[in-house]
Parts: sequence; structure tokens; C-alpha cells
Amino acid sequence: MKHYQIVIIGGGTAGITVAAQLKRKDKNLAIAIIEPSEKHYYQPAWTLVGAGTFDFKDTEREEVDYIPKGVEWIKDKASAIDPKQNKVSTEKSGDVSYDYLVVAPGLVMAPELLPGLSEAMDKKVV
Ligand SMILES: Cc1cc2nc3c(=O)[nH]c(=O)nc-3n(C[C@H](O)[C@H](O)[C@H](O)COP(=O)(O)OP(=O)(O)OC[C@H]3O[C@@H](n4cnc5c(N)ncnc54)[C@H](O)[C@@H]3O)c2cc1C
Repeated sequence: MKHYQIVIIGGGTAGITVAAQLKRKDKNLAIAIIEPSEKHYYQPAWTLVGAGTFDFKDTEREEVDYIPKGVEWIKDKASAIDPKQNKVSTEKSGDVSYDYLVVAPGLVMAPELLPGLSEAMDKKVV
């Protein structure tokens, strides 16, 4: 099992920023980011996409361009955390162990949890 001083789940804005800041403080830190997506999305611009003034395609970037130098990218999904053994399991790449774990997998939009919201969004009346 491979060991890192810091393992970060999620290579979105939060995960990448944490990795970059830590590397800036100490470039010798052994850091891995677990992130399955080849694409990184600049979500703040989605407000403008919604307003029809920005192209969604321009919010899509290559993840590889944003992984900080010297940080290992484990291109996989974290499937379980075992905090007693400082271990993260992935779907296809086995387990990795850590000294410190950063959990930054973002959130999942679930408008269906609020009765009527999905229907209202479909009608563009929100
Ligand atoms: C429409 C809109 C407008 C916004 N406007 C602004 C703004 O003006 N200013 C501002 O500061 N913020 C804005 N935000 C908020 C900002 O974009 C988010 O706060 C930020 O992108 C969140 O970053 P994150 O890394 O937490 O999540 P994300 O960027 O969503 O990244 C999470 C990552 O985790 C990965 N992941 C998920 N599950 C797993 C797993 N099991 N294993 C491994 N990886 C996993 C995903 O693939 C993803 O890449 C806006 C957001 C939206 C939606």
C-alpha cells in the first residue's frame, strides 16, 4: 500500500488549492490527490452560462493542467475511508494510507429533495 503524508479526496477547486498551498510551504511533502475526472470545471462562470452570456465549454478545463507540480494524481474515485487505519480505498487503484486526510469531494445537487423545485426549474420560474 502506498503511503503519503497528505491524501486529498477531490481535485476540484478546494482540493487543488489545498495541495498548491501545502506544496508552496514545503515542496518536499508527499501529497496525492484522488480525483476520477479528467475535467475541471470553473463553476463560478456557470452563473454567466445560466444568464446566456458565457459558453459552458469555456468553463471546462483539463484537470492535468491544474494538478500542482510534484503532487501525485490518483485518477480514481475514493470509495471508503478507514480513519482508524489512516487508509482510503479507491474503486480500481487499491488502498492508500496517509498521515493527514483532506476530504473535498464537493457536493451533489439534489433539487428533487425540495418538493416542487425540479418542476419549477423546468418551467424556468425559480
Ligand atoms: C453557479 C455557481 C456559481 C458560483 N459562483 C461563485 C463565485 O462567484 N465565487 C465563488 O467564490 N464561488 C462561486 N461558486 C462556488 C464555487 O464554485 C465552489 O464553492 C467550488 O467550486 C467548490 O469547490 P470544491 O473543490 O469544494 O468542489 P468541486 O469543485 O465540485 O470539486 C469536487 C471534486 O471532487 C471530486 N469527487 C467527488 N466525489 C469523489 C470521490 N468519491 N473520490 C474522489 N473525488 C471525488 C469531483 O469529481 C470534483 O472534481 C459558484 C458555484 C456555482 C455552482
